[in-house]
Order: sequence, then structure tokens, then C-alpha cells
Amino acid sequence: MTGPYTPADPTTMTPPIDRILADTVAGKRLSAADALVLLQSPYLASIGRAANAVTARLHPEPYRTYNIDRNINYTNVCTAVCDFCAFYRPPKHAEGYVLDRDVLMGKIAEMVSVGGDQILLQGGLHPTLELEWYEELLRDIKARFPQVNVHGFSPPEIHHFTKISKRPLREVLERLARAGLGSLPGGGGEILVDRVRKEITRGKVLTDDWLNVHREWHALGGRSTATMMFGHVETLAERVEHLERIRELQDETGGLTAFICWSFQPENTDLATIPPAGPFDYLRTQAVARLFLDNVPNIQSSWVTQGREIGQLALLFGANDMGSLMLEENVVSAAGTVHHLTLAEMRSAISELGWIPRRRNVFYELFEDEADGPLPATLPAAAAPCGPTGCGSTGALLQPSLVPAAAKS
Ligand code: SF4
Repeated sequence: MTGPYTPADPTTMTPPIDRILADTVAGKRLSAADALVLLQSPYLASIGRAANAVTARLHPEPYRTYNIDRNINYTNVCTAVCDFCAFYRPPKHAEGYVLDRDVLMGKIAEMVSVGGDQILLQGGLHPTLELEWYEELLRDIKARFPQVNVHGFSPPEIHHFTKISKRPLREVLERLARAGLGSLPGGGGEILVDRVRKEITRGKVLTDDWLNVHREWHALGGRSTATMMFGHVETLAERVEHLERIRELQDETGGLTAFICWSFQPENTDLATIPPAGPFDYLRTQAVARLFLDNVPNIQSSWVTQGREIGQLALLFGANDMGSLMLEENVVSAAGTVHHLTLAEMRSAISELGWIPRRRNVFYELFEDEADGPLPATLPAAAAPCGPTGCGSTGALLQPSLVPAAAKS
């Protein structure tokens, strides 16, 4: 599964690629210009080997990880318009919903009954729900399920809450944390270049404000993840610019725990004429992200959008975590792309490559009672990840000081 990195055969490798990869594996920070060269390169195997070597250096442990949670989309009503989103409904649409509180609690109870300890709570940008509604929702959840970590509200939602409440970002985050918000997902990043964002979204947070939500959360002691949805209207240089913004933020705060990328799923969206990026592009992009984001500790596979086999291969292209076995998903399924994995399939995807599968919590702490043994066999098959903003379920952590003790395993 791992091994010492040796540069590729120089007789078959374009010299600049070989130099870039060897330097990066040796620990030299990858420049934006060189990252672009890699993204344009056809040498997928060599880029993957280099990313795998970096992953082996960062994660020499004999296991690879996954977690279990449930995706709950509390509303699909959204004031924004994102051309890539098949999930949202505009205000007053007949198919718009806000989940009944009892239904929502029932979903959490189901998740708890099969051993889950976290929900990914996300929704559209609802035009009338006030900040107090979200605070009350969090308090209700924590009152009934104090052991459950609420991993909720992507940066577009948080930014929206500041507009609805007319309160400063810091205050909104502090109030949500006090009400029980445990960690923050990194959804709605898409491509962090305003030219791209303005072309595919309207009424949604732009780059600087998306980053500021993370920055403020980190300043409060929180942890979060970063995401990237690529393969739509962006250029390769803009993918690199996205990675640069993430790396700069991490240099500044150190608060990001993981990065996840996935290719845009065009089916049933307004961008359906765009051909989907294939596995080659996915694996190469993730591998380059591993090489570029030298300050982000974890990379998650996106098996939900790529399927089990490519999702498994992602573990050899820079990922060290399989992401979440989600018990419910509405967003990727709305776009027509749904891959299912059972718990056994998730674990075997890891073990077939020679690693021990280990379940982790949102803090990347292993479940001590699991060891190599199986989790409850009654877990239902999982369906894809992602929140309304295409966010993925990927981790987001809070400093222990901000997390009620009961939320930690
Ligand atoms: S991606 Fe999120 S913000 Fe955009 S339309 Fe869908 S629900 Fe709304």
C-alpha cells in the first residue's frame, strides 16, 4: 500500500513533471505554477504515486478511516439560485418544505439507534426563518440527544443568517455554538473564485465571505473542513486559485482539518449539457490537492460521487479517509448520482488495499471499542453525501473547549 517514493523513469517522464513531483515529495512547497503544470499533465500514475508518498509520510499509521452520520436537510427552500443544484425549491414553490420538528427528531433517533453519533444538518437559504429558529432547533436537538454532535450550517447558510438577523458574523457563530452547534461543514465552496461563483450562482456568498466564516469560526476555537466542486465552468488555473485560497487560510488559522473534492454532477441541473468530469480528472485533481495542501492534515475520498471503485482508488491518490457512511442523502440523489455503500463495503474498500478500517468521530479520534471488529450489522445501506450546497459530509471539528463533553465519544 505504501513504499518509498522514487522518481519515475526519466526516459519516459517529462523532466519538469518529474522534478516537480520529486521536490514536492521531498517537502518543498508546491507553487501555483507547478500545480497547474501537474493538472495539465497526463501522467496520472506518477502524480498519484507522489500524492500517495506524501500521504504515507503524513499518515504512516496502518489504518484508514471513515465515519458514520446522517444527513438531514431541514429545508429545501432557498433564495439563492445555483445552476448546479437540483435540490432547492424557490420560496412559495409547491414542493418546498421545512422539516417538521418531530420528523427531524425521529431521524436523529433512528440514527442513534444504529450507533451513529453525528448529524450533518444543512438546508437552503430560507427567506423567513430567523436566527432564533436555528438556535431553538439546536437546543431542542441537544436537549434530546446530548451525545449527538451537530455538524451543521455551511458558510453560505451562516452568511445568510447574518443577513437575516442583521447581526455580525462573530455574534451569529457564538450564538449558534452556545445553542449546541458542534462543528462546521465546508460546503458551498464550489470554486473560490468570484468570476466562477458569479457565473453559476446568484444570491450566494462570494469567496471572501465564505473564507471569513471559517476564519471567524477558527478564531472562536472551532475547526472546519474545506471543499471543492470542480468540472463545470472553471479553468484549471482557477482550480489552483481555489487551492491557494484554502492554503492561505490554513497558513493563517490552522483550523482546517480536512479537504474533500468532487466532480460536478450535471444530471438534472441547469448545467446538464456540461459533460461530467471522469475518474481520471477526479483522481488527478485530488492528488494535486494532496500535494498542494501541505498544511491540511486529511483528504477525504468522495466515493459518493465517484462510486466504490474510484472512491477506493482515491486512497491511493492522496486520500487517507473514506469520508462518511451517510444514512440519508437528498442532494446528490436529486442530481441523479447516488452511490450506495453498506458498512461492510466501506470497510472492505479499505481492507482490500491492506489497511485496517477504523471508524473515527468528527475529531478524527478513533472509536476505541471498535478495534478491528465490526460495527453493528444492522446499519442500513448508505446513500450519498453532500448538503444542499454540495458540501460533502466531510469533517469539521470544534476545539474541545467549544464542544459539550457529551458530544465527544
Ligand atoms: S446549492 Fe445551496 S444555496 Fe445553491 S440553490 Fe442549492 S440549496 Fe440553495
